[in-house]
Amino acid sequence: MKYVLVTGGVVSGLGKGITASSIGLILKACGLRVTSIKIDPYLNTDAGTMSPFEHGEVHVLDDGGEVDLDLGNYERFLDIKLTRDNNITTGKIYQSVIDKERKGDYLGQTVQVVPHITDAIQEWIERVASTPVDGKEGPADVCVIELGGTIGDIESIPFIEALGQFSYRVGAGNFCLIHVSLVPVLTVVGEQKTKPTQHSVKELRSLGLAANILACRSTTELDGNAKKKLSRFCHVPIENIITLYDVSNIWRVPLLLRDQKAHEAILKVLNLICDTKEPALEEWTSRADLCDLLHEPVRIAMVGKYTGVADSYLSVLKALLHASVACHRKLCVDWVPASDLEDATREENPNAYKSAWKLLKAADGILVPGGFGDRGVEGKILSAKYAREKKIPYLGICLGMQIAVIEFARSVLGLHDANSTEFDPNTQNPCVIFMPEGSKTHMGGTMRLGSRRTYFQGASSKSAKLYGNQSYIDERHRHRYEVNPDMVLRLEEAGLAFAGKDENGNRMEIIELPGHPYFVGVQFHPEFKSRPGKPSALFLGLVAAASGPGGRSFEEKYQKE
Ligand code: GLN
Repeated sequence: MKYVLVTGGVVSGLGKGITASSIGLILKACGLRVTSIKIDPYLNTDAGTMSPFEHGEVHVLDDGGEVDLDLGNYERFLDIKLTRDNNITTGKIYQSVIDKERKGDYLGQTVQVVPHITDAIQEWIERVASTPVDGKEGPADVCVIELGGTIGDIESIPFIEALGQFSYRVGAGNFCLIHVSLVPVLTVVGEQKTKPTQHSVKELRSLGLAANILACRSTTELDGNAKKKLSRFCHVPIENIITLYDVSNIWRVPLLLRDQKAHEAILKVLNLICDTKEPALEEWTSRADLCDLLHEPVRIAMVGKYTGVADSYLSVLKALLHASVACHRKLCVDWVPASDLEDATREENPNAYKSAWKLLKAADGILVPGGFGDRGVEGKILSAKYAREKKIPYLGICLGMQIAVIEFARSVLGLHDANSTEFDPNTQNPCVIFMPEGSKTHMGGTMRLGSRRTYFQGASSKSAKLYGNQSYIDERHRHRYEVNPDMVLRLEEAGLAFAGKDENGNRMEIIELPGHPYFVGVQFHPEFKSRPGKPSALFLGLVAAASGPGGRSFEEKYQKE
């Protein structure tokens, strides 16, 4: 097993995750089997209890792991299926060491950061790196390890110490450190400034790690002078200095690395140059080219709570992009803050109300993603009502399905107080209820999580057809509430179709509205398994319906209202 460690310097938000995934991808394109580990030095056990507003989406894995969104990048770029253990946190490491201490595994010893925590980190890395994630037998050839945060952060010190020991243990030729850093260009003089990178490489060295390769983020390609300086002061050969300048779409990042022969530099450090071929990236190149050429728009209104932060719905956006590229449409996402659609906003902030409705009405398709808590729920319900009545393509994911059921119960069954007990525990018509197996006292890891099976109820539904007429599908879940089984019959009789259910037939997984161009709600999260080149079936359905022949231009639609 060979290891590639990716660290970050100077500032956060340099796109270290995308860089690490792209490195994995070019190595895979050279014929190697690649796995990955993300280290998050925070104390939370996992990302499940963290706010998507601060940390971006909580990515859900097949095994129910609630992990950092970077694992989603790895899954999408490398087309692999990771496990919860591929995301290491300080919380997980300390918990494992403290559990061992309580069991008596260290009897007689003083348990300390060095060696107990640092050993636990190394053992964890070795164990997880050897777990296959690509559906094949046996361990991968290379494990890309991304260390979250920026060099110099107090909380990452034990990890850096562990990785320093680890690189020494696995030995030269088996470990390659790529430091992602920033080279700012001062507009006054237009000069590329290397000092911040020099300092962060020096800091890295003082912590016991030496960079083999520098990946420098900059607005333009690094000039010869800047490279020379970096090489001299950071002790890195010039050919191992790569510039990650701004590109038109992220699928170009692997191509950028390949063009600068980053794979050769890495393979040389890892002694793998003789065992590999030139990277085969034809499919990625044509997809990146196609993405830049698309001009006919498809407008999707995303009705959500965290509309200011795109990372909060990262996988949903990626799944929309995969589907749009497959439909040869340029994706335009209009963020509609759900609460701005509500009547209360009309009084309090008429401009916000007007602009939210303007966007919703101009959309070719409406998507209501997953969510928790009652903020904006009434607005989401109004958007589902609009989509149902005006026959606008609609995809509701998890909460987006639940609110569509509530809307249907209110408008079609006439149950005006129909609600989820999540938002109104005393409703007389609870059409969405707390699942019996959930916990109301412990919030971490107690939802219905991970891959679960959905059985199609007949082959005639749109969703069954989109999934290629399979009798069942496995998709990832993350929820505490479900459609009330006691109300299913009434909803069905009023025209709501339950196209997919769980193995017992009690848990509603897919709703559809027959006679509507595309109105689908799912209790699961299809976005997590969408891949470039292999878009999720239901996103494809939404975008195809939204790009349909009835599509009107934004101006046309707006003038009609
Ligand atoms: N809050 C809802 C539930 O717990 C929906 C969750 C979601 O959208 N992921 O069931």
